[in-house]
Amino acid sequence: MGYIDRARTVFQLKNAHSFYIDGKWAKPSTDKLLEVVSPHTEEVFMTFAEGAIPDVDRAIAAARQAFDKGPWPRMSVDERADVMVRIAANLRERLPELAEAWSAQVGATHGFTQYASKQVPLLFDYYAEMIRTWPLVDERTRDDGRVARIVSEPVGVVAAITPWNAPLVLLAYKVAPALAAGCTVVAKPSPETPIDAHILAECCEAAGLPAGVFNVVPAGREVGDHLIRHPSIDKVSFTGSTGAGIHIAQVCAERLARVSLELGGKSAAIVLDDADIHTALKSLVPFSMPITGQVCFSLTRVLAPRSRMEEVMGAYVAAVKTLNVGDPFDAATNLGPLAMQRQRDRVEGYIASGIAEGAQLITGGGRPQHCNQGFFIEPTVFGDVDPSMKIAREEIFGPVVSFMAFDDEEDAVAKANATDYGLHGAIYTADPERGYRMARQVRAGSLTVNGMIVDPKMPFGGFKQSGVGREGGPEGLELYFETKCIYFG
Ligand code: NAD
Repeated sequence: MGYIDRARTVFQLKNAHSFYIDGKWAKPSTDKLLEVVSPHTEEVFMTFAEGAIPDVDRAIAAARQAFDKGPWPRMSVDERADVMVRIAANLRERLPELAEAWSAQVGATHGFTQYASKQVPLLFDYYAEMIRTWPLVDERTRDDGRVARIVSEPVGVVAAITPWNAPLVLLAYKVAPALAAGCTVVAKPSPETPIDAHILAECCEAAGLPAGVFNVVPAGREVGDHLIRHPSIDKVSFTGSTGAGIHIAQVCAERLARVSLELGGKSAAIVLDDADIHTALKSLVPFSMPITGQVCFSLTRVLAPRSRMEEVMGAYVAAVKTLNVGDPFDAATNLGPLAMQRQRDRVEGYIASGIAEGAQLITGGGRPQHCNQGFFIEPTVFGDVDPSMKIAREEIFGPVVSFMAFDDEEDAVAKANATDYGLHGAIYTADPERGYRMARQVRAGSLTVNGMIVDPKMPFGGFKQSGVGREGGPEGLELYFETKCIYFG
């Protein structure tokens, strides 16, 4: 069966032209449709209802009502956790469909999406278990011997706004802890990738989540902008670009709405003089270009000792040249297409700017000759990159890696930190304690020493312009609480 036929067969979504609002599949206010385009064949393979302002207003009203009057925030934590475990079970049953949806919409390889989609049910189970034992009420003794109770209360109605690159994983990082805390949610997925949140809504419905607790309206920026300004939204939880994040922070500041932001990155991998390059490549190659480089924590800058640059870059380039670019559903493929036309335009613009600014194009830089359709781009490596160049400073969001030489540890740290971003990073060394000491000096929210991993049980988020707040782990649940202190006189 061909790619498009398979996508059409797999996604039997009977309510694709409705929105999940207030526990029902609601009729849209307009007949506008979103087209879901295959990045591999460039064909439209599904249409979805596109949310307009009256639709998102209905979703906000339902979430407000469910928070102010509904059972969800008032249930015992065990009752809430039981519903979440049922949502997780429903999601687990639909994992094959979730992986196909991700690959079909974004072009991420199916091998990767089959593995990474498992995080979605895991997050619901994880936060369900966490809330069962979370210290929601703490008692403290005052100086006069009397007590006060410190209570964690749900922050309220949450707007969850997510990008297209890892649509459901990123949404689950918000919805699972928000529901666990007792919040209600209006989700606005990216207009390019509406399938996944729709499946999540079906799983919530089948699990018996009370009406209005989770609502979904896929839509574009204008509707998103209305959502973040709405006085009934208590908190905005956003993942996306730094530009949009700054705008959202400004809008939220005007009415002091709570906000957490997971934004862009320009992460550096530092290969130290004592590192074994062949061991390093096992994680450096896949994590420099995950989802064809369209992941916020991609290791897009590689810093190597000047004395080892030829060896390190040579080994990396040799490995990159073995990567297969092609059909994301072919098991032999390492790199699928970029997710959309505008992504390829953007990446090609950065490649041109690297060349114009004098970086040395070592490999790639063009469209693969064997792919005559789809938004493909070759894995691309630049050498002789100066930290002042655009390709060294800005997030490209494509398979483009910049190599930079350093003279000593201090120079390596300075170059790793020479960006407005601070999301992630990696250190490769024969001495893990040396790696730890360097990791402490890099201004980023997470680092790995000898091997790349992102674990949902650990906090993830950014320093500097990579964001505010941490998702994952207990820190990810704390984002959805307000602290209240009750004194006894
Ligand atoms: P984007 O900022 O263009 O859009 C993200 C989402 O925000 C979309 O749903 C979009 O419709 C919405 N949006 C945009 N402007 C808005 C506004 N003014 N008001 C309300 N909603 C608005 O980002 P994108 O191109 O979809 O995604 C790529 C970006 O996401 C990259 O910068 C990447 O680094 C970042 N990202 C960050 C993380 C992280 O965890 N830090 C994870 C994945 C992606």
